[in-house]
Amino acid sequence: MTKDLSAFARERGIKYFMISYTDLFGGQRAKLVPTQAIADMQEDGAGFAGFATWLDLSPAHPDMFAVPDPDSVIQLPWKPDVAWVAADCVMEGQPLEQAPRNVLKAQIAKAAKLGLNVKTGVEAEFFLITEDGASISDAADTAEKPCYDQQAVMRRYDVIAEICDYMLELGWGAYQNDHEDANGQFEMNWEFDDALKTADKHSFFKFMVKSIAEKHGLRATFMPKPFAGQTGNGCHCHVSVWNDARENAFSDKNAPFGLSAKGKHFLGGIMNHASAMAAITNPTVNSYKRINAPRTISGATWAPNSVTWTGNNRTHMVRVPGPGRFELRLPDGAVNPYLLQAVIIAAGLDGMANTADPGPHYDIDMYEEGHLVKDAPRLPLNLLDAVREFGRNEALQAELGMAFSKAFLKLKQKEWNSYVSHFSQWERENTLDI
Ligand code: ADP
Ligand code: MG
Ligand code: MG
Ligand code: MG
Ligand code: MG
Repeated sequence: MTKDLSAFARERGIKYFMISYTDLFGGQRAKLVPTQAIADMQEDGAGFAGFATWLDLSPAHPDMFAVPDPDSVIQLPWKPDVAWVAADCVMEGQPLEQAPRNVLKAQIAKAAKLGLNVKTGVEAEFFLITEDGASISDAADTAEKPCYDQQAVMRRYDVIAEICDYMLELGWGAYQNDHEDANGQFEMNWEFDDALKTADKHSFFKFMVKSIAEKHGLRATFMPKPFAGQTGNGCHCHVSVWNDARENAFSDKNAPFGLSAKGKHFLGGIMNHASAMAAITNPTVNSYKRINAPRTISGATWAPNSVTWTGNNRTHMVRVPGPGRFELRLPDGAVNPYLLQAVIIAAGLDGMANTADPGPHYDIDMYEEGHLVKDAPRLPLNLLDAVREFGRNEALQAELGMAFSKAFLKLKQKEWNSYVSHFSQWERENTLDI
């Protein structure tokens, strides 16, 4: 039965609903709606001028409505007067096809038709930095190998424990928190779930981490490479696919790496489409400073350079850490939570449909011996290359839906044009005296 948001508000003493949707660039857009108005909004949605956000709409388009999905509602643990609810974009009574949550729901529906349910877990790394964004916030956090630094994580206990407490309160199955591989960097983990649930939680996690950091006079960033020379913010995604009998369809204890034939074909789709997927999994100019990066201060970037897979080895794009799942290490902190899940399912289902082969596994240290692998494609070197790869990949575009693919390509090309027309200090330094 659909949850009645008005009744939910009365039970919980909620005064406002934050009706939130995510645009194509991953921005979370919301209206604060008083509880008195939520019954109507639950039915009709909150009205937005879609052109004002990144959805490839024009100012002449009719109003867009963000219709809350009551299954996603979360009372803000740090501000119980307010509840956040993810919304689906609708225009003239039809789902707006290019809106990321709709794109994901379409992929989930395709998988469901095949009797498959994709379950995923994300690792959304972030930095805690100063309010002005200029540097990390803990002047004592300077070690060359700061990963799992006990003292440094305790200096941020108030922030990390507050967020973890909230995840526990929300029933997310939070199970560990640590200082990550860069100075000022942290990771917090919770249990995997159905792809749509993971995408909603991932969105809410980013909102929550930023909000709690601000409350403590800090700033949180998920930017892929906020500091040159430091390990960047990854957003690894672990993937398994379950059948109608709720069995893990990727698991075959007798197969190499415990990965079933279905799992291998799904992975084959990921491998085949990786370079094009990068436009979505690594969607910013800055993303390409994380992948293909020179060695960081800590000794390793932990990010991939080329399209390879392996067993339990973190130097490749895909790791199969154990039976029945794989870890895609390509995505970064700028990834759109909905499009991340959507592109994984789209590429994976295409792989299954074509019984794709993931190719050979290289069980080597890619950072040291990567040059020995001659037949693995390099990942795109910059956003433009990735966008062009996506633009050439008609199969992946079709899987994701042409309304989305066209809109995404158009906006990303425009973003690149804006970037290259920006004059940088580097140009002055290297060109002034030519
Ligand atoms: P690591 O740092 O070793 O890559 P983490 O523990 O940080 O791993 O994150 C692992 C993520 O994978 C978690 O969200 C976890 O719930 C999820 N996960 C574990 N098993 C599966 C599975 N079968 N399918 C999808 N996700 C899974
Ligand atoms: Mg107005
Ligand atoms: Mg992790
Ligand atoms: Mg990590
Ligand atoms: Mg990982």
